[in-house]
Amino acid sequence: MHNIDIDLVDMTLDVMKYAINRITKTVPDLGVPKKAEELKRIVGETITEKGIGGEKAFELFRDVLVKATVPIDHPRHLAFVPAAPTRAAVMFDLVTSASSIHGAYWMEGAGGIFCENEAMKWLVSLTGMPEGAFGVFTSGGTAANLSAIVTARETWRKAPENQRKRGMVITSIGAHSSIKAMAKVADVDVHLVDTEDRLSGAQLKACIDGLPEEDRARLFAVVATGGTTNAGIIDDLEGISEVCERQSLWFHVDAAYGGGALLADSVRHLFQGIEKADSITIDPHKWLFSPYDCGAVLYKDPQLAKEAHSQEGSYLEIFKDEGAHGFNPADYQIQLTRRVRGLPLWFSLAMHGTDKYKWAVEEGISLANKAGDMIEREDHLELVRDPSLSCVLFRRKGWAPDDYRDWTYKNHREGVALVTPTKWRTADGFETVARFCFINPHTTKNDIQLILDTMK
Ligand SMILES: *Cc1c(COP(=O)(O)O)cnc(C)c1O
Repeated sequence: MHNIDIDLVDMTLDVMKYAINRITKTVPDLGVPKKAEELKRIVGETITEKGIGGEKAFELFRDVLVKATVPIDHPRHLAFVPAAPTRAAVMFDLVTSASSIHGAYWMEGAGGIFCENEAMKWLVSLTGMPEGAFGVFTSGGTAANLSAIVTARETWRKAPENQRKRGMVITSIGAHSSIKAMAKVADVDVHLVDTEDRLSGAQLKACIDGLPEEDRARLFAVVATGGTTNAGIIDDLEGISEVCERQSLWFHVDAAYGGGALLADSVRHLFQGIEKADSITIDPHKWLFSPYDCGAVLYKDPQLAKEAHSQEGSYLEIFKDEGAHGFNPADYQIQLTRRVRGLPLWFSLAMHGTDKYKWAVEEGISLANKAGDMIEREDHLELVRDPSLSCVLFRRKGWAPDDYRDWTYKNHREGVALVTPTKWRTADGFETVARFCFINPHTTKNDIQLILDTMK
């Protein structure tokens, strides 16, 4: 099965034709999921002793299965955090796979890791972190947050009095769900500051001052958000950094979604203070137009991450040898074997230059502001809050939660758009509202109007 045969060459041509079509199509059909039993009924057994043949398997994928997926780069996919990988990055993802590079150790992956590191240097430069700061590409924001939390905890545990304590981190309720999930993995508690709005240094300080002494003694880190996923809110990073500095707490900034906006002159000032972080999460697969999956974790002092994550093993010893010298991405996050997932970003950056990235991010922000203006002009709609980064929260006057749900399904079923409701916290609890998140610079005002008209 590893030999080349003529059928395989034909197949490769078919597959390439499909890939080229998909890469060059700007408005792919909005696929709709089907139940697993229904898919099984249509495609039948695919894994058999003799194999069903590449042609057949590919046909099933192309004609049935991929149509039961949502292309996340569709210009009217404005739910969750969408994606819009550049054509160059998608194309180079194919090249990356074809090159079979092991991305854990320099000894095997030097040329690929070199490219990743060039892209990483640029990412670090966007944050303004000091000389010596560096990072690695991870499978996503979740893995990046986990790698950072573990590094923070291991650093804290170096003090003998902390070795037997269960750690605790503080964040706000606006933080991403992965913070709580990863704290569970790292077996640390999370204390939530009760705000979905911008967390300020003063609020953080008041929260810490209010902790019982035994909790204060096990607090080791604060997680601020550089663009909440729900509403695009950036915490008071400067104020929070000062509190962390004074109280010797690890300062992590989760900018998985918002990190791309570091490029945008129109909002860069909102991130003031991010340069003081001990660690930062940024997802290139969100707002830096990389294909899935590509997250990144950046450290002020990468040596601390190495002490927390470097794996030992007799078969790995050669990689630490001087003869194999170089940067080993496996040492700085939780994964060992890894693809060089920063390569598509590197190629696309090298091809297009960083100015085009700046333009594309500004486009997302500008679309959010345009959508805000359009919503204000409609009698049946109103903004819940001003657009922030590329997120817009708005309500359809008179709608109950069920109406938002029915609207979501109807638009999806009819292939119009994928837009989902969310909840926004008010004084009297949580209100169900509609939400847009813009990433794709090719979304147009017409796309927005088309969706707003479905709420009449
Ligand atoms: C999306 C997101 C995450 C999780 O990232 P994944 O790449 O989905 O693992 C974490 N934090 C924030 C703020 C996010 O927006």
